Amino acid sequence: MKFKFILLAGLSLILVWGCKPNAPEDETQTNVKVKVPRFEMDSAYAYVAKQLEFGPRVMNSEGHEACKNWLVNKLKSFGAKVTEQHFQAKTYNGLTVNGTNITGSYNPESRTRILLAAHWDSRHIADSPLSTERRDEPILGADDGASGVGVLLEVARQLQQNPISIGVDIVLFDAEDYGESNVEYTTQAEQLAGVMTWALGSQHWAKSFSGTKPIYGILLDMVGAKGAYFPKEEYSRTFAPQLVEKIWSMANSMGYSSFAQVNGGGVTDDHFFVNRSAGIPMVDIINMPPNSANKSFGDHWHTHNDNLDIIDPRTLRAVGQVVLAVLYNENNGDF
Ligand SMILES: [Zn+2]
Repeated sequence: MKFKFILLAGLSLILVWGCKPNAPEDETQTNVKVKVPRFEMDSAYAYVAKQLEFGPRVMNSEGHEACKNWLVNKLKSFGAKVTEQHFQAKTYNGLTVNGTNITGSYNPESRTRILLAAHWDSRHIADSPLSTERRDEPILGADDGASGVGVLLEVARQLQQNPISIGVDIVLFDAEDYGESNVEYTTQAEQLAGVMTWALGSQHWAKSFSGTKPIYGILLDMVGAKGAYFPKEEYSRTFAPQLVEKIWSMANSMGYSSFAQVNGGGVTDDHFFVNRSAGIPMVDIINMPPNSANKSFGDHWHTHNDNLDIIDPRTLRAVGQVVLAVLYNENNGDF
């Protein structure tokens, strides 16, 4: 994903970073009104580590193909009805990529549905401004990709063990992170063309969407790093303002101060296209630390430091427990 600069939407980009004391994130928090299953952080962490064993999940690579098969089988083993949406797309540098969006559905006939998503591909180059080595080699993407998928696999396991009646669609988008970076845009048309080089899988999914439309969606991207900081991302606030407020206030009531009560900038990520093309209100939970050295994300972003060492299971748990709280409260009509 890429940080949005002011030119695109003309929306003011005011970052108001607050200082908050650390919350007791070591304690498992569940909602008092509804029984919410306990999110197992060690399980989610193991799913992150397993994805990295395939190496970088770069488009058209063997590791990518092997990881896809593992993800499909894993979702099936957790009782989801799994569908694969194959697509081809052209990248900014002229490559034709073969992508697959993977969907694991629970209660596929239910008319009330929630969409959960993350991207499962990893970036083909280490092109952060902070990147100092092997800039033309693919990154492992422990946080950027694997963390969101790891959380959603644990959510899937919980849905199998603790069934609910609403529908849940877990979509693992492909080809999110093959976009063009480090380009200076001078016109809005150029900016838009640049935006369209990202999130190729979700663009395809959103344009071709049919069936029962989820009432809303939650995207997880870079949800595993130590000391993660999740401000309210700008497009999320634009397209799904009430949902943002409900999720962030629930997270804070659960003691997870990593869900910062501050506004963050906009990110060109999968939710942008789901909102825009499929009309499904979707928020992005994404790590955007205050005073970021790359002016957007954590220092490890799009560098080779985005490996397993950066992952803190407690961050995975904060996010996963909040997602479970949303689902089980929604199922109970309390969200
Ligand atoms: Zn990325």
